[in-house]
Amino acid sequence: MSASRRNIKSAMSKSGPKIEIRKQAPKERIKNFDEVALGLSEEEAVSEASRCIQCKKAPCVSGCPVEIDIPKFIDLVKNKKFIEAARSIKEKNNLPAVCGRVCPQEDQCEKVCTLKAKGAAISIGYLERFAADYAIEHEDKAVPHIRKSGVKVAVVGSGPAGLTAAADLAKAGYSVTVFESLHKAGGVLYYGIPAFRLPKRVIDLEVSYIRKLGVDIKSNMLIGRTVSIAGLFDDGYRAIFAGTGAGLPGFMGIPQEALNGIYSANEFLTRVNLMHAYKFPEYDTPVRVGKSAAVIGAGNVAMDSARCLLRLGVKEVKIVYRRSEAEMPARVDEIENTKEEGVDMRLLTAPVKFIGKDGSVSAMACIKMKLGEPDASGRRRPIPVKGSEEVIKVDTVVVAIGQGPNPLLPAATPDIKTDKRGNIEVDANGMTSVRGLFAGGDIVTGAATVIEAMGAGKRCAVNIDAYLKNRLK
Ligand code: FAD
Ligand code: SF4
Repeated sequence: MSASRRNIKSAMSKSGPKIEIRKQAPKERIKNFDEVALGLSEEEAVSEASRCIQCKKAPCVSGCPVEIDIPKFIDLVKNKKFIEAARSIKEKNNLPAVCGRVCPQEDQCEKVCTLKAKGAAISIGYLERFAADYAIEHEDKAVPHIRKSGVKVAVVGSGPAGLTAAADLAKAGYSVTVFESLHKAGGVLYYGIPAFRLPKRVIDLEVSYIRKLGVDIKSNMLIGRTVSIAGLFDDGYRAIFAGTGAGLPGFMGIPQEALNGIYSANEFLTRVNLMHAYKFPEYDTPVRVGKSAAVIGAGNVAMDSARCLLRLGVKEVKIVYRRSEAEMPARVDEIENTKEEGVDMRLLTAPVKFIGKDGSVSAMACIKMKLGEPDASGRRRPIPVKGSEEVIKVDTVVVAIGQGPNPLLPAATPDIKTDKRGNIEVDANGMTSVRGLFAGGDIVTGAATVIEAMGAGKRCAVNIDAYLKNRLK
């Protein structure tokens, strides 16, 4: 064994047990929309950070789409330099308190942590959240000094892709305006992900940091209707980044899907999260739910919908999924949380039609499935089992089987090229077929993750900067 391998082995054997994050107890948390995961204390964070062996080739850094210097910030936490740790993260990531909560770290930086081979990877996400929250609580107001060039750049959409591109372009000296169709900034972070996973205050505070960089966010501006892309260029914006996301609900196309009581996940979650329907009548928007609900699908969107239904007082909530748990696309932690809260997992089951009474859903006919060979998605293909039909009584259904690209901007922009799914096509630099118009995030890749959208926003910011420097020479 080489000396360096021996050193790693000996360091690993000294590293203590992984610290688990504290959570609200399941019986309590299903009665409120407060955050489930309670974060690490200072002692816990220092102890977890002390497990990191600071390996030289730090694979975790390349496992992170925005390439945070993970060993550096973890070492700062270990040495109780919490504000410095947050500042170090912010050099690469403008939304650390968000990412620390919702990033699928188990598939990214933590997946490749050297310590994983020995058992438990460092809890990089929990530590990122700890440092970011510490800086927020201690009101770290440090904002980098920026010399503005006066060159105007527009960003369409204020999701993680748009916010990241805007922040990085502002840091590079551009005068950036973000145009958002909703009344709140944050995209899915705000209208999709419930407060018990990502408190609204955290989003507002991270957005306010981006405003402090000089980014102007104009809400209630639907680009393609209020003003067109050509209109933005006419207004003097020299380049535009579109991060308009994948918010178009998908349906199954089975009989009676338009009955009352059947929601798309998009409508249901927007009512609950953006419009605060769980606080009706304090807020104007209601959401009607019954006593027995089914959520169709098994991604993060499905888990969030099921857990919202429980918190709205629905007694029986089922996840109905046509594959098995191994194929569920949701984050492992969120599947665990959902199960702990008492959601019934009806696996290898697919609805074939809805049954109605007086115009509202009262049941759904389902069929059992078995798994065949992997399909194009790489997951095993579900095959119906003949003669296994059953009827499940439900009075509320949320369809969470995936979202398509928001169609309005491409439809309203002549010359923009899209693929057969409707996603905007871009070249290697993220530029669309319209000169000066760049795009990234879910509108290009299809529904993906927060950090992938942020990575795209970052890469486009670099390419927009290069494009403008070249044009303005
Ligand atoms: P979005 O976040 O969709 O933002 C697009 C923004 O553009 C929106 O605010 C929209 O209103 C605005 N917009 C659209 N068209 C226009 C227009 N014409 N003019 C002006 N504004 C416009 N990912 C994770 O990593 N972890 C999770 O735990 C997770 N959970 C999720 C839970 C739910 C319920 C959902 C729906 C998604 C979840 N995701 C999760 C996926 C993740 O949120 C998305 O991949 C990410 O938000 C995509 O970012 P984006 O910036 O590309 O688009
Ligand atoms: Fe620390 Fe794991 Fe990164 Fe190595 S790979 S530096 S142990 S976090």
